Amino acid sequence: MSLQMKHKKGRIMGKLIHTVNGLIPVEQLGVTLMHEHILQANWSMRQSFPQWFCYDEFIDYAAEDVRRTKELGVCTLVEQTPVCLGRDIHAMKEVADRTGMQVIASTGFFHTENQWLYGRSTGSILKYLMLDIEEGIQGTDIHPGLIKCATDTAGVTEINRKLLSAHADAARRSGLPVGTHSYYGNRSGIAQMEVFEEYGLNPRKILIGHCGDTNDMEYLEELLRRGCYIGLDRFGDDAKNPLEDRVDTLVKLCDRGYMDQLMISHDYVSFVDIGDFEWCNVRGTDPDAAQYNHRYIHRFVLPLLLERGFTQAEIDRLLIENPRRFFAEM
Ligand SMILES: [Zn+2]
Repeated sequence: MSLQMKHKKGRIMGKLIHTVNGLIPVEQLGVTLMHEHILQANWSMRQSFPQWFCYDEFIDYAAEDVRRTKELGVCTLVEQTPVCLGRDIHAMKEVADRTGMQVIASTGFFHTENQWLYGRSTGSILKYLMLDIEEGIQGTDIHPGLIKCATDTAGVTEINRKLLSAHADAARRSGLPVGTHSYYGNRSGIAQMEVFEEYGLNPRKILIGHCGDTNDMEYLEELLRRGCYIGLDRFGDDAKNPLEDRVDTLVKLCDRGYMDQLMISHDYVSFVDIGDFEWCNVRGTDPDAAQYNHRYIHRFVLPLLLERGFTQAEIDRLLIENPRRFFAEM
């Protein structure tokens, strides 16, 4: 291994990528889903109510879910769960160990305005991001491969501005790429890019997420002209944007020359406790009980793309070459 590839204090010195099972060469990523989740379960509720969630049952369920995804040819899941949405590094590691799936974890804080954020300085937020990046996550020696930040319907509020700045600063210091949660309705992807540009981040290491929820070509092209990647990353979530419209927009963007800046993914979670989702209703069910899961793209989107004239080589550009170029960027 060359010196250039040496890992030093959590920083990427060459083309080696942090997974929950250590560093791997970027060439080994293979078919990669860039915005996925394995688990989002609130830590306060887990600690307060044993009925809320059962870790052991979940691991069996998620391992089966992820095993089926690997069987379809997916090699890597980028797990974009931020700290305050119930990130659990042990669950990611155990599912990766059981299935052989390469899982890339993230550091970062969600847009939700947690009480501890009020009055907190950008420097303090940065300190905790750097602890994850340099020391490891949750007391393990597992390092994040991505910095995740988020802006939602409220837009760039005062607290959100601090969060974006701290995350951008962490990216500048660590060299890690950035993935975001954004909301097209207030064009917050553009506002996020403006902060990242202030910090001099390389746009080729930025993935603005959830852009596939809109078919507004003007907004999407404005983002793409800034040089970043955009996530068409909720395939299967028909309520936010139906499949046919998502595919039409993808085809239009490719026709206009942006194929190499698009990432397709699901934003699916093997188990999430938001709203009415309860573990007691999920335990014992089949991971394919609903159509929307980590396999939706392979089952429903790729056949449609082939029908629309895509070649296998073009599908490989979306699922293999774009993620590899994103993580390889220095
Ligand atoms: Zn997500």
